[in-house]
Amino acid sequence: MPETESSAGTPWRLALPGWLALCVLAVASVGCAARACWDCDVCASSLIDVGCVSAQEPDAAEDVTWFEGARLIDGSGGAPIETSAFLVEDGAFAWVGRQGEREAPAGAARVDLSGKTVIPALIDAHQHIGLTNVKDGTHSKDNYTLANLVEHLERSAYHGVAATMSLGLEFDEALAFELRNEVFPDAARFLTSGRGIAATPMAGPQQEYRSGIPRGARTEAEGRAAVAELDGHGVDIIKIWVDDRGGTVPKLEPEVYRAIIDEAHARGMRVASHLGSTSGLADAKDLIRAGIDGFAHTVRDRDIDEEHMALVRANPEIWTIPNLPGSPVTLDDLPWLSETLPPFEIENLRAQAERLAEEGPGDFFELQCRNLARNREAGMVIGMGTDSGVSVAWTTHTEIRDMAGCGLTPMEALESATRINAEILGLDNLGTVTVGKSASFVVLDADPLDDITSTRRIDSVYLRGEPVDREALRAKFMDGVR
Ligand SMILES: [Zn+2]
Repeated sequence: MPETESSAGTPWRLALPGWLALCVLAVASVGCAARACWDCDVCASSLIDVGCVSAQEPDAAEDVTWFEGARLIDGSGGAPIETSAFLVEDGAFAWVGRQGEREAPAGAARVDLSGKTVIPALIDAHQHIGLTNVKDGTHSKDNYTLANLVEHLERSAYHGVAATMSLGLEFDEALAFELRNEVFPDAARFLTSGRGIAATPMAGPQQEYRSGIPRGARTEAEGRAAVAELDGHGVDIIKIWVDDRGGTVPKLEPEVYRAIIDEAHARGMRVASHLGSTSGLADAKDLIRAGIDGFAHTVRDRDIDEEHMALVRANPEIWTIPNLPGSPVTLDDLPWLSETLPPFEIENLRAQAERLAEEGPGDFFELQCRNLARNREAGMVIGMGTDSGVSVAWTTHTEIRDMAGCGLTPMEALESATRINAEILGLDNLGTVTVGKSASFVVLDADPLDDITSTRRIDSVYLRGEPVDREALRAKFMDGVR
């Protein structure tokens, strides 16, 4: 198998600036919880408190930037600010308002965003990165390496994604838990549920390169033990698979998922369930009655009925990550995708696009599209997730487009992919352009409220206050591809 460029790169810890690595240790020693430490902007203040300063730290004057002139969609769902200004200081939003309301501070760098639209950086609440090598098109457990995971996080950053949640297929779980605690420049933050729970390790996803990864639980005791183990690893959201794959594998039993949910809630954790395509509606209803926190799919075996709608209305805190199937690609998408994907993949997508033009998106898509609209009507919390693994990061944009075509307004689809996902994932630091939050945002060449496909018309991406070097990433993604 050809080695990727990044797999031959430097050891990952070296990617952290030396002063930051030292500071992480210092912060850990003064009792900043490991999980909070990942929120680098939370930690930034702790770092200063414990006197972690070094010669490599940027000069204060260089770290203040004034952005002005953009239309600002702040993620709250409120009306955009037509001509905004905002100040970024030490990686966080320090002031947000209208142009003319105040002056830029003396010495601040200035960025003119006239004619652009700014949205909060996107968040993907459901993916399975690491197992596919995008450059050579292979799918294998052997691909689950640090270098490949980081490459996928860089692809996320390229596409404007600040954080991305891996739900359950961590072939090297120890690596996933370590990666969760690291920050890489020009890369999204990695979140993980650890290995999820199915009836048996072979009863999760059925692709050869994905099978055998989940934890198995045939009894209530095994379910509770799996939850305890994940709690020990600091997992917040547990992934379960409730699916018999068309009768081919055992399904997680109702008493077992009840035990899992009960144990998780007792420990302050939450549970998200995969739904199958043969009994999804019945399973979803029973999972709601069992106290599930969220769904990693929309019901996708039949149309949602009144009983389901009533259950959703009675449990308005339950969320769903719709994962509309297929991420239909049109011929118009190909030039944009050619920036980062190898030619062989573009040819595969061209064939898909031609099929889509002839046949339409298909019944499976239409069913889930209707069910998303009905869930929204019932008041369900709608997040956004790509469920991607093979197609890394770019499907964020096709998913947002599809959601906006299935009962959500463009504004609602943007909220799902920003503020609502931040709430679902407990990312206090992301999701809106608000004072105090991480300055992670996307500058677009056109307004996505006019045309939702404009989310992919990216001028620039800022993560944690720093511009992502998209040109360098593009060169890296395309280096040596066939
Ligand atoms: Zn999934």
